[in-house]
Amino acid sequence: MKKKNLGINTICTHVGEVKDEQFKGAVSPIYPSSSYAYEGVDVKRYPRYFNTPNQEALCEKIAMLEKTEAGLIFGSGMAAISTTMLAFLHAGDHVVLQKALYGGTYNFVVEEFDKFGIEYDFTDGFSEADFTSKIKENTKVIFVETPSNPLMLITDLEMISRIAKEQNIVTMIDNTFASPINQNPADFGIDVMIHSATKYMGGHSDICAGAVAASEAHITKIWNIAKNLGGSLSDYTVWLLERSMKTMKLRVKAQNKNAKKLAKWLEAHELVKKVYYPGLKNHPDHQLAKKQMRGYSGMLSFELIEELDASKFMKSLKLIKESMSLAGVESTILSPAKTSHALLSSEERERQGISNGLLRFSVGIEEKNDLIYDLEQAFEAVSNKEIQKA
Ligand SMILES: *Cc1c(COP(=O)(O)O)cnc(C)c1O
Repeated sequence: MKKKNLGINTICTHVGEVKDEQFKGAVSPIYPSSSYAYEGVDVKRYPRYFNTPNQEALCEKIAMLEKTEAGLIFGSGMAAISTTMLAFLHAGDHVVLQKALYGGTYNFVVEEFDKFGIEYDFTDGFSEADFTSKIKENTKVIFVETPSNPLMLITDLEMISRIAKEQNIVTMIDNTFASPINQNPADFGIDVMIHSATKYMGGHSDICAGAVAASEAHITKIWNIAKNLGGSLSDYTVWLLERSMKTMKLRVKAQNKNAKKLAKWLEAHELVKKVYYPGLKNHPDHQLAKKQMRGYSGMLSFELIEELDASKFMKSLKLIKESMSLAGVESTILSPAKTSHALLSSEERERQGISNGLLRFSVGIEEKNDLIYDLEQAFEAVSNKEIQKA
């Protein structure tokens, strides 16, 4: 059987492992060497060359999950994003970036690109015209992120790849929120898929890593600068990431399922003003999400009615942790107004739809009823009602 015919769970479990030829153990042995022979060998290996046995093996798994020829893994999602952008953007080039990007990506662009002489524009919205109106003669890259953080807006991947191909522009996506389980942008012609593997790929809130998947030619181009910038991943973490990824589909499917049920439950709640989840029929981009995603992810946001104090609500939660990051097996929640969007003025936050009552919820794999009970007791606590035990 050809490898490309394997199903996702099989790829997660078996593809891209280091075979234990010596002892026939079931899992990849770990090769932590930072020093390898250089004579009489096919490959000169070194961790910062991204080519230790464990690094190379895991790249195969990532590439196959994203349906591309090759992959690379990095020390963090930002190492993957920064290295990849700098591989394709040189002084005098221009990049169009989607509005509403991960804060670290936004900071990288606005704080560093001037130093490199790279020009950039952010779109005003998500429509075709929003993108084409920003494209210039020297545009080399279009960079998108879908679903977006925290309002879960969807960018049309087929549209992006069509307008880019007409003008020989390379398309990049931050596919972190969807994970390769829910979305394969390569199916729609997107060139380069980037992940913060700290999130769904790691999945247990204990790894910081990044990943890129693309054609052999694009990965070579990225590798050429990656070895100079040096953002490689330690083999110990590579091994842990490989272990995590074996259960990625099981975890993500459970998170999808919980998130959809909780989104519906929250939508019907009298103390919730609005729920943002692409899996809900009344989400403005539901049809588009349905077209390009297999599942709607474990990420959702909801807005409390104005009378409620969001901080008090979060402090009242017992199971769901207040936490900065996302995508772990444990449910976490945060206030975008106090974290990712804290540096914006309150007017700008309002313009972007980020109210003080908006909460971003990363749904874990706990039993749905326990999560509902936790949310309900927090609603009771902030609305000063008696807790009604079921
Ligand atoms: C966390 C995150 C990143 C950055 O990843 P790190 O691993 O923290 O460097 C990039 N994009 C998205 C969407 C993220 O959630």
